[in-house]
Amino acid sequence: MARTLPAFCPVCNTRADSTVCPRCKTDLLDYLSVFYAPDMLWNKAAAAYGNKDYRDAYDKLAEAHYLRPTDNEILRQMVICAEKYGGIERAIRCLEKLKTGDDSPEVAAEYERLYAIYNNLLKEHREQAETKPRSAVNTSKKKKKKR
Ligand SMILES: [Zn+2]
Repeated sequence: MARTLPAFCPVCNTRADSTVCPRCKTDLLDYLSVFYAPDMLWNKAAAAYGNKDYRDAYDKLAEAHYLRPTDNEILRQMVICAEKYGGIERAIRCLEKLKTGDDSPEVAAEYERLYAIYNNLLKEHREQAETKPRSAVNTSKKKKKKR
């Protein structure tokens, strides 16, 4: 998805579409690199998604989200990637963030859907734990004694 965003010179606020401000001649290369970093990360995430590397796609999107936290489209894609690689709790956390800026019924419905999946996973996990012998269940959670 290509997005064109207006870039404005941070010195004189003139609209700039090249790496040098047309008005005050400030070199904008570093500024534009930072400005467009989320878009570059977005494109890398799209490539990773195309390769079915959803975990990598999620990581790239998380970086983009950090740089542009108000872009809800990034968060929406983070939810999709997190669910695809099995990070259901992470997907829910992303949806919780998304809900604060987007009160649409679609987001609410998606939240309900993922939460239901999450609850089913928890239930399955509990049932599995109950059918296994105690010693096998607790080995990973054994606390180390402090000395
Ligand atoms: Zn300028």
